[in-house]
Amino acid sequence: MLTVLDKTFVPFIGRDTLQERISELADQINRDYAGRCPLIVGVLNGAVLFTADLLKNLTIDCEITFIRVASYEQTTSTGNIKEILGLTEAITGRDLIVVEDIVDTGMTIAHVCQQLAEKGPASIAIATLLFKPAALKTKVDLAYVGFEIENQFVVGYGLDYDGLGRNTKDIFVLNES
Ligand code: 5GP
Repeated sequence: MLTVLDKTFVPFIGRDTLQERISELADQINRDYAGRCPLIVGVLNGAVLFTADLLKNLTIDCEITFIRVASYEQTTSTGNIKEILGLTEAITGRDLIVVEDIVDTGMTIAHVCQQLAEKGPASIAIATLLFKPAALKTKVDLAYVGFEIENQFVVGYGLDYDGLGRNTKDIFVLNES
């Protein structure tokens, strides 16, 4: 059991299961990108632990960078505009692997990929640790998915509740009972 502020969470995905699956995803990436040198683009803050653990399991040549996503009130057909901050590398002609903690409606990752695409990379692939298919509101092509989950609220292993609860090795789910 984990208590964060006013909510309690129960164990959901344990550390061993997480690490095993991340190692499988890394194996796939090692195969898919053999002979290339992708730029791993971690989306802060939530994907920080997943990105680090994925990176530890990559044996191909690769580089890493992190971006942040800022939300604005102005809306489009796909929700609030989300601008990416912190990208200092030239990405033209690069193979990008964007690493997210969770894809819920898909709006965040769709905006991120759209803005990265405008800078002319050779390719963009998405790696997400968690995916809630039932919540998806836009078309996104997810190349690497750790776990598909129900439409529930999860914390831990980088994911927060109001800024807290990121610092655990396991993932927990909101206790609805
Ligand atoms: P989307 O744009 O796909 O709706 O939302 C993605 C972002 O919403 C994630 O990067 C994450 O910050 C947040 N999010 C969505 N679902 C959850 C969840 O179950 N738990 C937590 N902690 N954050 C979530």
